[in-house]
Amino acid sequence: MEKTTSINPATEEQIASYERITPEIAKEKVAKANKTHQSWKKTTFAERSKLMNKLADIFEENKEKYAQLATQEMGKTLKQSISEIEKCAKICRYYADNIQELLADKIIKTEAKKSYVTYQPLGVVLAVMPWNFPFYQVIRFAAPAVMTGNTGVLKHASNVQGCAFALEDAFTKAGFPEGVFTNLNINSDAIKAIIEDKNIIGVTLTGSEPAGRSVAKIAGENLKKTVLELGGSDAYIILEDADLEKVTDVATYGRLQNNGQTCIAAKRFIVLEEIYDDFLKMFTQKMAAAKMGEPTNEDTYYGPMARVDLRDELHNQVEKTVKQGGKLILGGKIPNKKGAYYPATILADLKPGMTAFDEELFGPVASVIKAKDENEAIELANNSAFGLGSGVLTGNSERGEKIALQLEAGNSFVNKLVASDPRLPFGGIKNSGYGRELYDFGVKEFVNTKTIWVD
Ligand code: NAP
Repeated sequence: MEKTTSINPATEEQIASYERITPEIAKEKVAKANKTHQSWKKTTFAERSKLMNKLADIFEENKEKYAQLATQEMGKTLKQSISEIEKCAKICRYYADNIQELLADKIIKTEAKKSYVTYQPLGVVLAVMPWNFPFYQVIRFAAPAVMTGNTGVLKHASNVQGCAFALEDAFTKAGFPEGVFTNLNINSDAIKAIIEDKNIIGVTLTGSEPAGRSVAKIAGENLKKTVLELGGSDAYIILEDADLEKVTDVATYGRLQNNGQTCIAAKRFIVLEEIYDDFLKMFTQKMAAAKMGEPTNEDTYYGPMARVDLRDELHNQVEKTVKQGGKLILGGKIPNKKGAYYPATILADLKPGMTAFDEELFGPVASVIKAKDENEAIELANNSAFGLGSGVLTGNSERGEKIALQLEAGNSFVNKLVASDPRLPFGGIKNSGYGRELYDFGVKEFVNTKTIWVD
């Protein structure tokens, strides 16, 4: 039987291995999830909320344990893993407290005695998820899905199966009936058979563009809806009126959080020419001072990347960019030690057509770009195949807001790093995907938006 292995990227040592299940067994689990849906959809919001609050308790009570697991499997600092588990608890409580209001019927006045829209659950949703926030990405899908009355099956990234099973176990311990949330430890080749299964009503995928294209194609052929949360190359425009001390702190954290592996990380810094040299100097000092190291150490700013192959791919993108004329200001060398480590790296004077400008760099590498004025900065920011997040850093928030409105992205933040929040919708445009998660938009992606007319 084929196995998935979890390898600690800080040491390259194997932590555990998990047996894959066959597509046939996976389909049996999907059938069980569908059977459970038939009774689960009849439960009240209050009943579901009770269990969702219990799940939040479990995250809070076990946050150290879950955080250790995430850090061991994918290398983020323990501090950030703990924050991730706390965020899971918050999202569970948000949906437990608000689902009734978010899914309330919408009365619409017509000539009918009564006409309204009601939202009904549809069945089993397949979630294909990445390793970079191994608990949070799953809960961001699962908490709203389960609260609507749907059930979910998870195909998690192969390197974080420990987290996947821990999530399934947390749902069980919270008291959810078997089949409400199920982990399927399958190969990505087996996803096709699952999408084709009659019991699957839709697919949500968070991951890379190629994975999104492949899943969307299969789902499209089977007339199943998809929500795609894909990669990004978020641009942050830094205006000449910005406080450089603050901006460089934001830029350093923005680029290095989660060891540089966040879809909405600040990736391209577009800096107005008046402050370009000063920004670059201060940013370089701060990036150089950020401590790379063992992710469980208190003073570590960023740990290793999640896998050695991903680190090597990133290094290849850096080398290509340098060959194309990009200036390597900091880092750019694979350290001579065990682990998937890559140092904080800065590439400057980048232009469209260079790899680091055009592609997503999913690791601790910052791309710095000079713009002669505000208009050119907006043009450069929008010159991207992606459209996930974006930001403006300025001393004048009104000016920032005017620019934010012109940025081609699903989320544009002024003087703050883009972050997801259940009270606001989250998602992308262009090759960053489509559909929304969170708030009511996320809850309504996999429901029957049903019109009722009574005469
Ligand atoms: P990935 O390689 O695309 O993997 C994501 C998931 O898709 C995994 O479960 C993976 O399984 C599966 N998969 C990979 N190739 C597939 C294929 N051809 N068909 C079907 N499934 C496939 O992405 P990743 O390396 O885990 O995550 C990094 C990417 O996710 C980045 O591009 C990042 O920007 C993006 N991301 C986006 C968001 C967002 O909210 N928009 C959030 C987080 C991350 P295996 O592990 O078994 O290959």
